[in-house]
Amino acid sequence: MSTAHKELWFCTGSQHLYGPGPLGQVAENSQKIAASLDGEQGISATVVFKPVLTTADEILKLCREANNADNCIGLVLWMHTFSPAKMWIAGLTALRKPFLHLHTQFNRDLPYSTIDMDFMNLNQAAHGDREFGFITARMRLARKVVVGHWQDPETVHEIGTWTRAALGWAESQTLKVARFGDNMRNVAVTEGDKVEAQRVFGYTVSGYGIGDLTDRMAQFSDTDVQQQVQEYRDTYSLAKEHDRADSLAVAARIELGLRAFLTEGGFGAFTDTFEDLHGMGQLPGIATQRLMADGFGFGGEGDWKTAALVRIMKVMAAGLPGGTSFMEDYTYHFGTTAADARVLGSHMLEICPTIAAGKPTVEVHPLGIGGKADPVRLVFTSPAGAAVVASIVDMGNRFRMIVNEIDVVVPDQPFPKLPVARTVWNAKPSLKIAAAAWIYAGGAHHTGFSQALTMEHMEDFAEIAGIELVRIDSETRLEQLRRELLWSDAAYRIGK
Ligand code: MN
Repeated sequence: MSTAHKELWFCTGSQHLYGPGPLGQVAENSQKIAASLDGEQGISATVVFKPVLTTADEILKLCREANNADNCIGLVLWMHTFSPAKMWIAGLTALRKPFLHLHTQFNRDLPYSTIDMDFMNLNQAAHGDREFGFITARMRLARKVVVGHWQDPETVHEIGTWTRAALGWAESQTLKVARFGDNMRNVAVTEGDKVEAQRVFGYTVSGYGIGDLTDRMAQFSDTDVQQQVQEYRDTYSLAKEHDRADSLAVAARIELGLRAFLTEGGFGAFTDTFEDLHGMGQLPGIATQRLMADGFGFGGEGDWKTAALVRIMKVMAAGLPGGTSFMEDYTYHFGTTAADARVLGSHMLEICPTIAAGKPTVEVHPLGIGGKADPVRLVFTSPAGAAVVASIVDMGNRFRMIVNEIDVVVPDQPFPKLPVARTVWNAKPSLKIAAAAWIYAGGAHHTGFSQALTMEHMEDFAEIAGIELVRIDSETRLEQLRRELLWSDAAYRIGK
């Protein structure tokens, strides 16, 4: 998931009013800023300086070039001087890549003793960016506005966060999701309009019969399978009572077949369902977990929206500390006080070991539902720390993303009999308010969970995608959130 070859184009707006001298200075300053941002560890794409834009034709040409450049994930736009915004209308109308409006200036401080009118005319972002802001507002364009000096770590951090969202968006445009079997019968929230999802997010969802997968599994030799089992032994802890050669071999063959199927088909995410496993010995457990750890997105029970979301979140999080996984709000500890209330997040099997606090154990247990043989799974607990859970639902006339900030905690007690990977968290602002808000907003039980990403990453992604975002954080008040839901519902109806 290397992102270094992806490019963020740094584009500066100006005009010819100022003459060649000041324009030369504008270019020099812009080059310095682009080079400085390019050197920042926190910006995970190459920042490419583009020649200063002074006419409508140049702007349109650049926007068209950006559209056609596969490696260009987005533009940073900045008006060093005044750049009359009528010049930007054609270009911004054509532009199909996301952009960030950077409101900065070359000098951090006022040069009190030397400032004169030449300096004033050269450093006009304070009003040049307002002119640009007007046209982007008038055109109702999706964008992120970042204000601050370009060397301020906070400014760099905000650009870096948005860059990750833009990387996720670029991934979404070409992502292929494989769907084995259909939806789990009668479940509503995992359904949705796949045609509309492709129109909005770019990704495709293709259905396959489980036989397509079992055919690929059958092509591996017993030697291949034993090598795969050996990798399990070498990588994880395996207690004697779980060292069941037959179960491990079945699981290993599933992983080999699934990995080959996904890789050969160019898929970045997949979904399956325990209700459709004809010809499979077990529900894929360890296979799904290990594939997620290698960057594949996954959603259980036919949940292609969450599968795609988990993949996009993994791309957004690439290189950051902390893991990203498919997750489900499973059961609660209400306790007696708000501070004590916790969510136990887990799934039947499929939690990604990138969120394991220690070395996972390989275990074999009955599944309890689905009627198949005991599946092999990795069991672990995730480390404490800040995280987000995110869900995308289809509201019929739009997609809505619901995001909750949470604090993962070390469980108060061990879970000696729980045979699945798990994570325990406090939801912000409290379980009582967060769960009510989530339910009012129609958020799913399935989520993308990340200890690498923040609300800001998800918010930036939602803005780029042009979808509704419902944020649930320490500031959330239920009565206000319910009004927000009502108003946004009205806004989307009027907007359509
Ligand atoms: Mn589920």
